[in-house]
Amino acid sequence: AAIAYSDLEKLQVLGHGNGGTVYKVQHRCTLKIYALKVVHGDADPTVRRQVFREMEILRRTDSPFIVQCFGIFEKPSGDIAILMEYMDSGTLDTLLNKNGTFSEPKLAHIASQILKGLSYLHGHKIIHRDIKPSNLLVNNNNMQVKIADFGVSKIMCRSLDACNSYVGTCAYMSPERFDPDAYGGNYNGYAGDIWSLGLTLLELYLGHFPFLQPGQRPDWATLMCAICFGDPPSLPDGASPEFRSFIECCLQKEFSKRWTASQLLTHPFLCKNRRSDC
Ligand code: ATP
Ligand code: MG
Repeated sequence: AAIAYSDLEKLQVLGHGNGGTVYKVQHRCTLKIYALKVVHGDADPTVRRQVFREMEILRRTDSPFIVQCFGIFEKPSGDIAILMEYMDSGTLDTLLNKNGTFSEPKLAHIASQILKGLSYLHGHKIIHRDIKPSNLLVNNNNMQVKIADFGVSKIMCRSLDACNSYVGTCAYMSPERFDPDAYGGNYNGYAGDIWSLGLTLLELYLGHFPFLQPGQRPDWATLMCAICFGDPPSLPDGASPEFRSFIECCLQKEFSKRWTASQLLTHPFLCKNRRSDC
C-alpha cells in the first residue's frame, strides 16, 4: 500500500544538501524507518528542478546498487518530498572522516558495487554526473554501498549528446567536461562518471582529495588547471599493482582510453579481492 505523507514522523535531520533537508522518518503504521528528502515550496527554481530530475530518475531505476525510492510527495504548499530507503551508516565521506582510510580489499568491495550501479545506470542511458564520497550511501549491514543524489544527473536521448554543462561538483569533473572541444566534442558523458569514481577511490585510500595536499584549501583556478593540464593523480608506493592499474584505467585523461563500467567489473583488482571478506 502507498505510504501517506501524514503517517511519517520526523525523527531527526540526517543531512542538508543545497536546498533540501534529509530527515530520518518513521512510518507510524509499520514502524519502518526511511529517509525523507524535503525541498520547500519557496526553494529557488534550480533546486526545485533538481528534485524533479531526481524524482524522474529514481522512478525509472530499480537496482540493489541504487538507493531505492518508496514514494514521491507534492504538497499543495509547494513542498516536494522523496521517500527513500534509510542507509544506516551515512555516506562514504562520513565514514572516511570517522574511521579513516579504507584498505584495498574494502575498496575493491566498494568499487565493485559502485560499478554495478554505474553499469546499470549507463545501460539505461543515465549519467550520474556527481559521483563523489558524499553521494555514496552505506548500509553497515555487509558494507552495502549505493549510489544516491541524482540532482544533476542526465537522461540521454541520443547517444552523442553534448553534456558539457557545468553541473555537479567541479572538483570531481573529468578533463573533457571542462573543455569538450579539445576532446573532439563528441565524447560520451558516461566516461565522466568513471573519472569521478577513480578520484573517489583514490581519496578513500589517501584520506584527502587527490588533487590537493592534506589540509590544502581548494583554490578553484589552480584545481581546474591541475585537472586539465597536469598528470592524473596516481597511487603512492605501497599500493598493489592491480589497484594501481585499476586507478589508471579510471583516471585516463583521454576519455576514450578510460575503461567502461562493465570493462572495469572484469578488472584483476576486483577479481583478486573477490574471495577475501572485508
Ligand atoms: P549535496 O548538495 O551536498 O550533494 P543534496 O541536496 O544533493 O546534497 P543528498 O546528497 O541527497 O542531498 O543528501 C544530503 C545528506 O543527507 C547526505 O550527505 C547524507 O548524509 C544524508 N542522506 C541522504 N539520503 C540518505 C539516505 N537515504 N539515508 C541516510 N542518509 C541520507
Ligand atoms: Mg549530495
